[in-house]
Amino acid sequence: QKQEWAKLKDEPTTSSDGTHVELVANIGTPEDVEGVLNNGGEGVGLYRTEFLYMGKNSLPTEDEQFDAYKSVLEQMGEKPVVVRTLDIGGDKELPYLELPDEMNPFLGYRAIRLCLERDDIFRTQLRALLRASTYGNLKIMFPMIATLDEFRQAKKILLEEKDKLIAEGVEVSDSIEIGIMVEIPSTAVIARQFAKEVDFFSIGTNDLIQYTLAADRMNERVSYLYQPYHPAILNLVNNVIEAAHAEGKWAGMCGEMAGDSIAIPILLGLGLDEFSMSATSILPARTQIKGLSKEEMQSFKDQLLSMNTADEVEAFVREKTNQ
Ligand code: PEP
Ligand code: MG
Repeated sequence: QKQEWAKLKDEPTTSSDGTHVELVANIGTPEDVEGVLNNGGEGVGLYRTEFLYMGKNSLPTEDEQFDAYKSVLEQMGEKPVVVRTLDIGGDKELPYLELPDEMNPFLGYRAIRLCLERDDIFRTQLRALLRASTYGNLKIMFPMIATLDEFRQAKKILLEEKDKLIAEGVEVSDSIEIGIMVEIPSTAVIARQFAKEVDFFSIGTNDLIQYTLAADRMNERVSYLYQPYHPAILNLVNNVIEAAHAEGKWAGMCGEMAGDSIAIPILLGLGLDEFSMSATSILPARTQIKGLSKEEMQSFKDQLLSMNTADEVEAFVREKTNQ
């Protein structure tokens, strides 16, 4: 089977009836890029930048960050690279920020919430990204967006830093797409409003599932409620994809669900444009998608969205796709 996958390394990902989707990878460091290319990744769909900030005693400098972003972009060449701005908090701590303990860290002061308040940290990262933007095909996305105001504020800060750099004579790409992660139900529900202002969506199902079912993604006791195939999740995902397409934007997914063999046929049918997963999942996913008819999967859409339980969804997909 490995040999069969290897043959698909340099091929585009196309369903049996000819729809192309992007299969891209999640990475955490510039060293991960080699694995992406070796596994036939068509881009990076999620660069988690937290690792630059973790495992040390102080914030990374602008130059340190610039070097990392430039390295990833250069290695990827013309292929798209979606960089997520700092998503600290929740399960990812930065001791040197000395943040007070919280009752509910996953519902607390984290990610874009922290960046908008500590905009010194945020601006440094954005400057590093903007300076690196001329070395490849950069897209920037903001994590944990709950309201349109947050997106507008984050984008405003990004554009301010861009203007400053240009005034300083620094070259900055003028084709950087600016998108958001959809990992909070409020954003999935009003995706239509967001779609008018963002360039793309990337659905973060790892968090979207925990927030939708109110089941901590780290808590074994409630893991039975952590249900990717729950019809509520499928309906939110569908809402996001439809909203994106209604405004001529694209929708991807960078949570674990994007590489799952039961979810892939569903997501193909819902019209997901980009699937971002661990590098080693790319060739198996490409093999699977080549054997799926998008039109057939699409014909199951209304039925799937109106099912009652995750088990029902799973059994249906297994039967239809012989899994
Ligand atoms: C997600 O929430 O789905 C996601 C991709 O981000 P993380 O797993 O880093 O929270
Ligand atoms: Mg997340």
